[in-house]
Amino acid sequence: MPAKWKHDRPLSRIAFAKRFPDDRSCALYLAAKRWQDGFVCPECGGVKAWELGSKKFTWECAACGHQTSVTAGTVMHQSKVPLTAWFMAAHIVASHSNGISALQLQAQLGLGSYKTAWLLLHKLRRAMVAPGRDPLTGDVEVDETTIPCRTKEEPVAGGQGRSPIGKMVIVGGVELLEDNRPGRIRLATVRDYQGDTLKGFVAANAVRGSHIWTDGNSSYIGLANYEHTPRTIGNMAAHILMPWIHRVFSNLKRWALGVYHGLRKKHVQRYLDEFVFRWNRRHSYRTAFDRLLGLTVCQSHMSYRLLVGEHTC
Ligand SMILES: [Zn+2]
Repeated sequence: MPAKWKHDRPLSRIAFAKRFPDDRSCALYLAAKRWQDGFVCPECGGVKAWELGSKKFTWECAACGHQTSVTAGTVMHQSKVPLTAWFMAAHIVASHSNGISALQLQAQLGLGSYKTAWLLLHKLRRAMVAPGRDPLTGDVEVDETTIPCRTKEEPVAGGQGRSPIGKMVIVGGVELLEDNRPGRIRLATVRDYQGDTLKGFVAANAVRGSHIWTDGNSSYIGLANYEHTPRTIGNMAAHILMPWIHRVFSNLKRWALGVYHGLRKKHVQRYLDEFVFRWNRRHSYRTAFDRLLGLTVCQSHMSYRLLVGEHTC
């Protein structure tokens, strides 16, 4: 994935550590994000408050006495991991061009356990999907591919060809911009190549009325509410007819092998979300970092048990 920072450049690790040297500097940043126009009490709407000395990261409303923690409602709330570690993890995830494994993060942050590093990364990954994000629009290439599953015992399973045995079926869409560059993308793991499944992906990820370009796959026939052009020219290879979605797929496969040594079925959608997040924000560090922290503020607390139990296939 390209690591060009067109609009801004991430702070160096040293500069970032200077900007957020302790939990208090992180808490003040969260307070500034939470109350961009100054404090507002969620209980009574009062605008005066003071920071409590006796309770960490907590402000008390001068009018009604309601206490608000700056981490309330965020994944950081009641976490034993220091805020500085959350912030540095978000910085690393946002500024690293390819992403980082839990093992690497554990080493870089000096965390005591692998589980903590894994959970932290997974929670940040969860914050990558904006609720109510805008679907793709305009001309959109849509296609499917398969990627091999990684199992616990073996790095990568699954043979060659289109058979989904030992593999995961991935469907993807990419916006085509006017100057023939790729725009935003979406990726999802799906059960099969059936018409309902693939049309369901389009319906969930592209604005009605968009122009959907596919290959000759008959599953897309009858795609209602969209303009649909199946592209087939003799035996011409799909990567020539659908260059951008194939570029996305090949980058995804390289990334999955390079960073994570293959993806496991259980959490594959989270990793697809991370890839989409990185692709869609590949030119803007600040947007990526703010999104991680901004969304993090909106996310509710989620336990390790809940996280490891989801997306079971
Ligand atoms: Zn109040």
